[in-house]
Amino acid sequence: MLEVRDSDPHNHYIMKSVERAVDSENIRTGRCFVCGGAPTTGVGEHVLPKWLQRKCGLFNKRLTLLNGSSIPYRILTVPCCVECNTGFLSKIETEVQEVFQRGCIETSEHRLSVARWLAKILVGILVKETALLLDRKNPVSGKIVPADFIDQFAHCQLMLQSSRKQTRFRALHSTFPFTLYWYRIDGSDNAFDLSTDILGQSIAVHMGKLGVAFVNDGGLQMIHGQKGPYELEGATVLPHQFGELAARVHTKASLRDATHFYLSSETQTHLTIEQQYVRPFTNSALENGESQVFRPWDSMLFAMRAARITGLEKSVFLDTATGIEMTTLANLFPGADINIVTKDEAISPTHF
Ligand SMILES: [Zn+2]
Repeated sequence: MLEVRDSDPHNHYIMKSVERAVDSENIRTGRCFVCGGAPTTGVGEHVLPKWLQRKCGLFNKRLTLLNGSSIPYRILTVPCCVECNTGFLSKIETEVQEVFQRGCIETSEHRLSVARWLAKILVGILVKETALLLDRKNPVSGKIVPADFIDQFAHCQLMLQSSRKQTRFRALHSTFPFTLYWYRIDGSDNAFDLSTDILGQSIAVHMGKLGVAFVNDGGLQMIHGQKGPYELEGATVLPHQFGELAARVHTKASLRDATHFYLSSETQTHLTIEQQYVRPFTNSALENGESQVFRPWDSMLFAMRAARITGLEKSVFLDTATGIEMTTLANLFPGADINIVTKDEAISPTHF
């Protein structure tokens, strides 16, 4: 996927650092999760930073892992070296805190900072899962996530690590090669929720008054609208409505049927990430002759996920008898005066 034009072995070349970070042996042996270097003897990097844990009272709250077990956020840490920890990772945290305080994303710099931060959390959770047993009573069951799976997150690492130096992006579907949507949330200042779809490489975080959803898909979802589901990016929504939006983004992410080819290059001072073309996975042809980039929408998958994230009944999102999908977002559509409507092709031509 990545062609390293400049083969200078300098340690601070981001592409080299990404290569080391996703190396399964480095992951297995607990090297720094972003550069593959020697970790410090400290606690490492908190996947969810302490400022966030303090703000939202997360010290005793737990994250549910892929195997259904859970881990307290306060010990959700990954190996990290002091240079990365106090260097570019610390810079990302500072930038993101400002955005969260502001409660909205106004500039492309904000967008990039939030995306890098979410990429860090997504990669961090996965790296943590490579160190935890799938079944604690059965050590031969292996780890929750195999170390060589992280290799699929090389692009996510590249987005995260692009913060180390001046980066120029050339993307096909938007300003940046990722999907990101944000919402104002009408709810408590300290509210917190996090959801992910590992195969779809998506993550959504509700923190106080701001909700954000990121997909490491090269921006492919933006083909279906720069402003996300129902074009609602930037709208003020209730917490459960943000949960529904997150479920729509995750579901779409899990149906992705294409990736991108990149030709990126790097000098001592600059990184260039260039998206060249969309490369379909299955090459299924659509009616119009184009290659499919997302598998068909799956209302059941969406309804199950939306129910899990929002805590509402699945029947709020899907009438299983008729197969008709529903939404809690209808009051946000222009001219709408009801809270829940049945899916109408005029309102929801593509779900997206
Ligand atoms: Zn490091």
